[in-house]
Amino acid sequence: MAAEAGPDAAAEAVPEAEQDKDLLCPICMGIIKDAFLTACGHSFCYMCIVTHLQNKSDCPCCAHYLTKNHLYPNFLLNKLLKKTSVRQVAKSASPIEHLRLALQQGCEMSVKDLDTLLSLLSEKKRKMEQQEAETNMQILLDFLHCLRKQKLEELNEVQTDLQFIKDDINAVERNRIELYRARERYSVKLRMFLDDPVSTKLWPSVIDKQNNIPVSGAREFTWWDM
Ligand SMILES: [Zn+2]
Ligand SMILES: [Zn+2]
Repeated sequence: MAAEAGPDAAAEAVPEAEQDKDLLCPICMGIIKDAFLTACGHSFCYMCIVTHLQNKSDCPCCAHYLTKNHLYPNFLLNKLLKKTSVRQVAKSASPIEHLRLALQQGCEMSVKDLDTLLSLLSEKKRKMEQQEAETNMQILLDFLHCLRKQKLEELNEVQTDLQFIKDDINAVERNRIELYRARERYSVKLRMFLDDPVSTKLWPSVIDKQNNIPVSGAREFTWWDM
């Protein structure tokens, strides 16, 4: 590792974007894979340049005459590409991955260091568990509030319906009583009419036909008392 510190530090001095640009294949514009060098000094992915040379016999960069026989593996560039990709992986790795890597590679640590690390980790774990539990409680609480609101709305609807039904029942009851009273009034009138001996004599057939009541038994007839 220490031997690589020199060249790595020098490479860092060049702006990274520019450095990466040099590693692009002029044909596919991606990072060169399996670099091959032409006799004219240009580098391409092996597959890119081989595919190009199936149809043409020139260099895509400088148009120099070129066949498959003028291709050579670019060992130096391949090594550089490999290092770059390792560096990019390391750059994108999280601190935890770095730590795990360091531990796996047997980095030296004292028991005290490990104790500190362990207590930090357990504290971090405790905090995360606490936070997760709080979040879960909040979600549950929100859900229950939502459910309660919904049920209250349903209850309100049912209560409104019940009130409507009650109103209807009252209206029907009033109508029934009204009808009963009308019948009673009519019965009283009829009784008075039947009790009058003059009218009975004058209109026996009419009464008989209209009410279907036997005139003789009219006094005992008490259907209105039902
Ligand atoms: Zn390519
Ligand atoms: Zn060329």
